[in-house]
Amino acid sequence: MEKNYLLKGIVASPGIAIGKVFLVDRDHLELSHYNLTTDEEIDFEIERFKKAVEESRAQLLSAKKDVSKKKFKEAQYIIDTHILLLQDKVLMDNIIKTIKQEKVDAALALKNSVEGLRKHLSEINDEYMRERTSDIDYIEKRLLRNLTGRKSDIITKSKETIIIVANDLSPADTVNLNVNEVLGFLIDCGGKTSHTAIIARALKMPAVVGLKDITRRVKTGDTIIVDGIHGVVIIHPSSEKLLQYNQQKIQYDELEMELFKYRDLPAETEDGFRIKLLANIEIIEELSSVVDYGAEGIGLYRTEFLYLNRKELPSEDEQFELYKKVAEKVFPNPVTIRTLDIGGDKFMSQLDLAEEINPVMGLRAIRFCLKEVSIFKTQLRAILRASSYGTVKIMFPMISGIEEVRQIKKILNEVKQELKGEKKAFDQDIQIGIMVEVPSAGTIADLLAREVDFFSIGTNDLIQYSLAIDRVNEQVSYLYEPLHPAVLRLLRNIINSAHDCGITVSMCGEMAGEPLYMPILLGLGIDELSMNVMALLRVKRVLRSLTYKDSQNFIDEVFKLSTAQEIETVLKKEINKKFPVEF
Ligand code: PEP
Ligand code: MG
Repeated sequence: MEKNYLLKGIVASPGIAIGKVFLVDRDHLELSHYNLTTDEEIDFEIERFKKAVEESRAQLLSAKKDVSKKKFKEAQYIIDTHILLLQDKVLMDNIIKTIKQEKVDAALALKNSVEGLRKHLSEINDEYMRERTSDIDYIEKRLLRNLTGRKSDIITKSKETIIIVANDLSPADTVNLNVNEVLGFLIDCGGKTSHTAIIARALKMPAVVGLKDITRRVKTGDTIIVDGIHGVVIIHPSSEKLLQYNQQKIQYDELEMELFKYRDLPAETEDGFRIKLLANIEIIEELSSVVDYGAEGIGLYRTEFLYLNRKELPSEDEQFELYKKVAEKVFPNPVTIRTLDIGGDKFMSQLDLAEEINPVMGLRAIRFCLKEVSIFKTQLRAILRASSYGTVKIMFPMISGIEEVRQIKKILNEVKQELKGEKKAFDQDIQIGIMVEVPSAGTIADLLAREVDFFSIGTNDLIQYSLAIDRVNEQVSYLYEPLHPAVLRLLRNIINSAHDCGITVSMCGEMAGEPLYMPILLGLGIDELSMNVMALLRVKRVLRSLTYKDSQNFIDEVFKLSTAQEIETVLKKEINKKFPVEF
């Protein structure tokens, strides 16, 4: 076997991990099997299987309806064959019998029964019949997917710690992972700001994305090294490489420890300019690290993760309890709760939304909430109720113009009146802000600033939309340039407009957590930076070595340059004055 086989990708989350591959292959779901012991377990398993059959049938019937609209006869015939296979009494009875007699889980019973049938067909001396094995494969996969509950579910019941290798992971996949087992992620697709990358950072796990075809190069159980510092993956490492990386890992982890001395120091420049450093969170499990890393509150709570991967929408009370917990935990520091930002690469399973050709520019975030007002109102009620337990702010994503803000305020007022009528407590002066992440909002920042209490710049989307670069498409990731002069001009306009109107401006996209960018963000006069907690101390260390005065002079120079490349060169020179080796 080839040793030290190396692949290069994009660093999505820093750190080093060494472990065994767990390959998540959509077409070959990896399932860990289990034995059944009681009659109840057996009955439950049979019911589970029957339900999967029903779900598969319903999906196929709906698919058939879709293709019939397109008058695609061939496809209809194929789907009919699959529906018939699901009704095949011999096969289905055989699976149920296997569950009962062998006391195995439904997935294994299915696998064994199908294998028998496949073998039988392959022995028939008829090409047409032999071809039918592909239909059986298809039905097996569909049933397996439905058995696991969701199409994209990953079940890792392994005893070892693992490194997940996948073509792509949706946020729905990642919220289901058992974080105690997983050491890191390696992904074919994606860029630095894909949601998988964000989740990996939130979970403090090294991740390399944009690896193109790593899923075809490894198998479950292979030893692998994730070098989340250089964006490199080493498959089948030699013992020397393993030794070298074990040492590097120790050094890396030591530097991490060293950074902790900055934990309780203020994020203040040498000449006394103070920037607030806050944390981005997605899931409640991250709360303890918000405190551990000394964040001054939560600048972005991405609530959509609460809506993913479940059959029903979260109720008002469920949301209220969660938001209350967060508000209490960080009090007196603030938590900025962002309303549901669904769509794009984050989907909800409860709602049967129409498929969109261009979902990132479609019915997502605030557009969705303004259409599904009752879902929106439920969330607003929960946030408002939680506001009496701490310092809560509300933030709205994907605002593109003034009318959306006015509509939001009208709905918010209705909700406040309702709560008042019900004598439910909330913060009457709750601050409301918008995410500035659509170029139109950045352009009319002066008009928007009059409408709200604060801005938070979402650079992930702002860069995506202003440079027309899909943030999860690795083919164009080289064009995703935070230092592009167009982006910097937009940032300057947003920050100046906010300040002219006397409102605070924060930044919560990934750009806010990049230490290299600090001379620019400081020079532009940003008030707050909200980032993944892992970046917090590194950013603070750099900020504390800079001066506001120098950064202001530096920014004047930056705006004379015409390309991201030129800007990066002067930026590195500037930061090298204080940190000669790191950047
Ligand atoms: C952003 O767009 O920068 C942002 C913070 O929001 P999200 O990454 O959740 O789209
Ligand atoms: Mg965004």
